[in-house]
Amino acid sequence: MKSTKSILLVLEKLKKEFPNRGAMEIGNPYQNLVAVMLSARTRDEQVLKLFPSFLKNFPTVQKLAKSTPNQIDRRIKTIGMDRQKAKNLQKMADEVVNKFHGQIPNTMEDLTFLTGVGRKTASVILVTSFFKPAIAVDTHVHRVTNRLGWVNATTPEKTEKALLEIIPETLQPVVNRVFVKFGRYICIPGKPRCWGCPIQKYCAYKNKNLIKPKNSAKILDTWSQQSSATR
Ligand code: SF4
Repeated sequence: MKSTKSILLVLEKLKKEFPNRGAMEIGNPYQNLVAVMLSARTRDEQVLKLFPSFLKNFPTVQKLAKSTPNQIDRRIKTIGMDRQKAKNLQKMADEVVNKFHGQIPNTMEDLTFLTGVGRKTASVILVTSFFKPAIAVDTHVHRVTNRLGWVNATTPEKTEKALLEIIPETLQPVVNRVFVKFGRYICIPGKPRCWGCPIQKYCAYKNKNLIKPKNSAKILDTWSQQSSATR
C-alpha cells in the first residue's frame, strides 16, 4: 500500500491533467441518474446522442414513472441492453415517486434501494449530484489503483472498500473522474502505456511497458485532446 503523500500527489497531478467533469454529469439529479443508468456497458457517445430526445419525452421522474417499459424502450433502442434498461428505468422512477416523494435520494442506502442502481451508480450520483464523498469503482478504477499498488484487491467491490479507507474524503470525488479517462488512454488493459505515463515514478506495477511504439506521438496527441474534453 502506498503512502498518503504519494496518493495525494498522484491525484493532484491527474486532476490537472483531467480538469473537466465526467460525460454523464449532465444536469439535475434525475438527469444524471438516468444518464448513468443508460451508460452501463454502452459508449458515452451513444447515450449523449439519444439523451436530448429522451429528455423531451421523459422530462421528469414523474413522467418516466407513468410510462411503460415499451414506451421507454422505443427511445433507447440504439444502446445495449435496451429492454432491461427500459424496465429498470420505469421501476426506478416509480420507486422514486412513491417512496421518495419524487426526489432522487441522496444517500448510498436509499439510492441502492432503487431498481437498477448498484454501488457504482449510486457513488457517481452522490458525487455529481449531491457533492458527497464516494468512490465509483468501475473496471478502470479497479485496474489502475491495483497496478499503482494503492490496493491489492480481487474485485471492484473490495477495491472500493479499500480505497474509501485510504483516500481522504475531499479527494474521493476525483478518483473516478480521473482514473476512468486515464485507464482508457494510458493505463489501458493488457499492455499499459507506461512509456508515456505522467505518474510512472509513483507506480508499483512490476511489468511496466516502457517501450515506445512507433505511433507514440499520435497516441499522446489523442490523449491530450481527450484529457481536455468533457468525455
Ligand atoms: S506506470 Fe504503467 S501501470 Fe503504472 S499507472 Fe502508469 S501506465 Fe499504469
